Amino acid sequence: MARVPQSFISYRADLQSRMSAQLERLLPKCTSCGKLIAPYERAVSFRCPQCGEAVIWRCEKCRRLSNPYVCPKCGFRGP
Ligand SMILES: [Zn+2]
Ligand SMILES: [Zn+2]
Repeated sequence: MARVPQSFISYRADLQSRMSAQLERLLPKCTSCGKLIAPYERAVSFRCPQCGEAVIWRCEKCRRLSNPYVCPKCGFRGP
């Protein structure tokens, strides 16, 4: 039975939290529910129909349920 040193465990935890922080920067977030959108999800992105500036992301679930979204730029409420 191998004993894992404490420093190794905290290193792993640190790496994991840094990786998720990086993922959060890389992956888009669903504008409706705030969930990170995985690359394989069938999510959609489109420009806000009112201001045309903000990019709205909607995950698969929110598309199916047609959950409302609010544009972070102009406050337009869709779908
Ligand atoms: Zn969503
Ligand atoms: Zn807008």
